[in-house]
Amino acid sequence: MKLPDNFPTLPDFPSGEVWLAGAGPGDPRLLTVLALHAVSNADTIVHDALVDPRILDLADKGTERIFAGKRGGRPSPQQRDINTILIDRARAGRRVLRLKGGDPFVFGRGWDEAAALTGAGIRFRIIPGITSGLAAAALAGIPATSRDTNHAVILAAGHRAQDGKSAADWEALAKVGQPIILYMPMAQLADITAALARGGMASDTPVAIIQGASTAEERVVESSLAKLADDARREGIGAPAIVVIGKIAGLRQGLLSSMVGWQ
Ligand code: SAH
Repeated sequence: MKLPDNFPTLPDFPSGEVWLAGAGPGDPRLLTVLALHAVSNADTIVHDALVDPRILDLADKGTERIFAGKRGGRPSPQQRDINTILIDRARAGRRVLRLKGGDPFVFGRGWDEAAALTGAGIRFRIIPGITSGLAAAALAGIPATSRDTNHAVILAAGHRAQDGKSAADWEALAKVGQPIILYMPMAQLADITAALARGGMASDTPVAIIQGASTAEERVVESSLAKLADDARREGIGAPAIVVIGKIAGLRQGLLSSMVGWQ
């Protein structure tokens, strides 16, 4: 792809700078132009597990790649260690790309890293990415908002906080009456749906689970609040997956006869 002649100039990637970029949900075609520019120009790429291998393959052979993510429940590298890698590499004069799945500032610890870089006096740039919650929904034919169904949408994390407590007050969120897009939902699915029901959400509320959005593993399962945990188990849904809970999840059926598949 050649960029049009009147496309805005892309910034230089100076030595010693860190670019904190989102890689989108998976498919390299959903990278932003700036993120692709960063992949092509970085000396070092520090990436999470969710950054699609097809994106890492776009970098030059000589680009240093450092994996810094969680994999399948194994202990993840400490945030401090990741911060140290970013700071040390930048101080060594490298052009460091910190690449995260989706958007770096949506459940991505991007702010923590930006704060650490600020503390160390290292210049950085933030490049937003398409967050997986919105991309997974859209690719499945589910709008985040539609005029008839909702005027707000809740992005929530389904994992437990480090103190073992649930991260969000699900009963309170149910009472808001707005759809919920759930990241990292799998471990707590039964607990979360039960809490939403206690908060007054109807058991037949439409739900869609989207696994591996924009990848070869993409699957969509439709369910309801009451059946979600069982359906997910029966269908063998695994991470990464996004769960959309609310009337918006039921809207996809109206589009399927004309919607062109992603792949
Ligand atoms: N910063 C990321 C989110 C990181 S949390 C973003 O903005 O998208 C990790 C969670 O993202 C996963 O547990 C899953 O819920 C979701 N996720 C990431 N990529 C996904 C994909 N391709 N399909 C479905 N869910 C995805």
